[in-house]
Amino acid sequence: ELLKTTQTTQDKDNLEESIRPHSFDEYIGQKDLKDVLSIVIEAAKTRNEPMDHLLLYGPPGLGKTTISLILASEMGVNCKITAAPALERPRDITGLLVNLKPGDILFIDEIHRLNRLTEELLYPAMEDYRLEITIGKGQAARTRSIPLPKFTLVGATTKVGSLTSPLRDRFGLIQRLKFYDPEELALIIKRTAKLLNTSITEQGSQEIGRRSRGTPRIANRLLRRVRDYIQVKKFDTITQELAAEALNIYQVDPQGLDWTDRLILETMITQFDGGPVGLEAVAAATGEDAKTIEEVYEPYLLQIGYINRTPRGRVVTTAAYQHLGKTGEQQLSI
Ligand code: ADP
Repeated sequence: ELLKTTQTTQDKDNLEESIRPHSFDEYIGQKDLKDVLSIVIEAAKTRNEPMDHLLLYGPPGLGKTTISLILASEMGVNCKITAAPALERPRDITGLLVNLKPGDILFIDEIHRLNRLTEELLYPAMEDYRLEITIGKGQAARTRSIPLPKFTLVGATTKVGSLTSPLRDRFGLIQRLKFYDPEELALIIKRTAKLLNTSITEQGSQEIGRRSRGTPRIANRLLRRVRDYIQVKKFDTITQELAAEALNIYQVDPQGLDWTDRLILETMITQFDGGPVGLEAVAAATGEDAKTIEEVYEPYLLQIGYINRTPRGRVVTTAAYQHLGKTGEQQLSI
């Protein structure tokens, strides 16, 4: 029984569930991470103990939830999925903890957003498998310590720097997920196409892969858009040309930048001379939420070298000017 806490619709959840890899063999890429986790799993199994608490960080859609589910299946345990915004009251977290079975995995998404009370309940739970609750108020208040089954906490975050250090220190393993390269994304797209009964050429999957901003969730989403397109146009195979045609209509450009990416870059160029400019100023000028820019858009623009972060703010690079067909000179940033 999974706790659904995402804001997505049920339909989308079902689709996403149906294409989710179920084992390390199906999970493409992230070789370093898989190597580390295989050792951890084997050691834990040999000792007949749950794995150490694990913190996964990286941009959304790179496979953090999927890894957690795979770990549970490799360990032969259940994985309960929740997210920090769903853990508002102390009893939300205590309810989850007391219902865990020995060895279970508790996955908490957006763990940097836990409130203080919830976070403080997690410390003894993670460290000593104990729940410390206060009963009564004021003078009469007493604490009770309830033993918990040994479990593994898997935390996921887009912003590892936003975790408090006491929380971060309680994770035995801290691992980063990397953006996928286009070849890996092409493999993911071919795999998903097969599950969706859609025929696609090698070149077709590479075209979508290149436009997926290094992110499996986006790759799968773009594949579904292209699949709609060829169905309406009455073609039966996704080729490179059809993929490009469809994605141009959806305004996903050959580098994978979408309308918002381009708006951010254009705004930095036209209103701020290419920077340096602060995040808040870009957010105000584009009407986008600063957090979304920082956690969703900026990581990929940094990754492909279209913006740089300097002590004085963000700057647009020459590569981005070229991509947008702008002639403006990049300002010296330092
Ligand atoms: P996150 O938790 O990091 O936001 P998810 O684990 O929910 O990301 O992954 C998003 C989608 O991308 C999932 O539906 C899954 O099918 C797909 N996916 C993620 N990583 C991989 C991978 N390594 N190989 C194949 N598909 C993947």
